[in-house]
Amino acid sequence: MSKFSSSNFKDKKVLTRVDFNVPLNDKFEITDDTRMRATIPTIKKILADGGKVILMSHFGRPKKGPEEKYSLKHLAGHLGELLPGANILFANDCIGGQAYELAENMKPGEVLLLENLRFHKEEEAGDEDFAQKLSRLGDVYVNDAFGTAHRAHASTAVIAKFFDVENRMFGLLMEGEVNSAEKVFHHSVKPFTAIIGGAKVSDKILIIENLLEQATDIIIGGGMAYTFMKAQGGKIGNSLCEDDRLDIARLLLKKAEEAGVRIHLPEDSIIADKFAADAGTSSAPSNNIPDGWMGLDIGEQARKRFTEVIKRSKTILWNGPMGVFEMEKFQSGTKAIAEAVAEATQNGAYSLVGGGDSVAAVNQFGFTDKVSYVSTGGGAMLEYFEGKTLPGIAAVSAL
Ligand code: AMP
Repeated sequence: MSKFSSSNFKDKKVLTRVDFNVPLNDKFEITDDTRMRATIPTIKKILADGGKVILMSHFGRPKKGPEEKYSLKHLAGHLGELLPGANILFANDCIGGQAYELAENMKPGEVLLLENLRFHKEEEAGDEDFAQKLSRLGDVYVNDAFGTAHRAHASTAVIAKFFDVENRMFGLLMEGEVNSAEKVFHHSVKPFTAIIGGAKVSDKILIIENLLEQATDIIIGGGMAYTFMKAQGGKIGNSLCEDDRLDIARLLLKKAEEAGVRIHLPEDSIIADKFAADAGTSSAPSNNIPDGWMGLDIGEQARKRFTEVIKRSKTILWNGPMGVFEMEKFQSGTKAIAEAVAEATQNGAYSLVGGGDSVAAVNQFGFTDKVSYVSTGGGAMLEYFEGKTLPGIAAVSAL
C-alpha cells in the first residue's frame, strides 16, 4: 500500500497542495471542475480518518497582489457541494494571523481553504521564508498538484523540506500520475510503442530524443509528420512544415536507426484543398502531396499499419493527435488510433495518454475508460516525457 493510503491522519492538520486552477466565467461560475474533482478522493480519505484538511492552491495569474477575480473564495461553495457534510472554512490570506488562527482551531472533519498562493510573489519565486511560513499551518504536507509538479514554487517544492520524510507525501492523484509515468518510462514491458502527434516537431524533439532510449517503436503522425517527410526529400504541398527543423528531423531519424528504434511515418494522408471543415478532400502518398493541397490526417494505409504496431505492443504512450481531429473530415486517423490503443489495453497492454490534445481526443471519442491512465497534468507530464526531473516530485521523494 502507498504511503498516503497507509497513513492515518486522525487529528492531524494536513496541509494539502492542490491544483484548483479551474476556469470561471464572468459571473465567477466554474465552467469545468475536473481539477477540483480529481483531488476529492485525497481530501475524503483525510476527512474519513478524522483529519483536518488545509487546502492551498494557485488560481489564475494575478499580476501584483490580491485581485478579486482570482480569489479562491469563488470556489468555496462548489467545494462544499463536492464534499457533502464537510464544514468549509476560508482564510483571506494563505499565511498570517487569521490563517494560523483558523488552522489552530479546526475540528476533525473540517476543511480550510486558503486564499490564492499567487497573491504573494514569493510563491512563484520559490521563496524559502514564505515556504516556511506556509509549512507552519500543517503537521503533514501532502502534494496532490501534479499539474504544477514541474514548477519549483514555494508550495510545490520548497516547502517539502520543512517536513520530516514521514510527514510529507503525495496524495492519491499525484501518486496515480507518478506511478503511471514510472511504469511507462522506467518499467515498460516491451514492445513499447510511443505515438507522437500534434502540430509541431519543435514541441516534441526532446520527447522523441528521450524515447529513443526507451521505446521499441515510435509512431509519428499529425502535422509534425510532414517535416519528417520533407526532410527525406518528400513533396508535401501546403502541409504544415517547420523548415528550420529539417536538420533535426534527419538527425532524429538517424539516431533512431542507430538505436534500433523503429520509426513509423504515415505513408499516405487525407489531403485537403484548404484548412477548413468544409474543405475538398482526397488522399495521396504523404511524400507526394500535390501543390495547393495539405495533409490534415493520416491515410488509410497508415491507419492500418499503425493499428498493427499498436496491437502488438505491451506498453503504449500516446501524446498528440494524428490529424485535425477537431474537424469531422480529419478525425478518422485519431479515432483509429484510439480504438487500437483501447483494444491493446483490453488485451493486457498498459496505456498512458498524456498531454493536451490527445486527452481531449480520447474524451471526445469516449475512450477515457478504455485506456489504462489519462494524465491530467499537461505541462508536467510533457516535461516528465522529456526526461526532466520534476521539482515537485523530487522534493517529496528526497530522503
Ligand atoms: P499539439 O498541441 O502540438 O499536440 O497539436 C495539436 C493540434 O495539432 C490539434 O489542434 C490538431 O488540429 C493539430 N494538427 C494535427 N494534425 C495536423 C495537421 N496534419 N495539420 C495541421 N494541424 C494538425
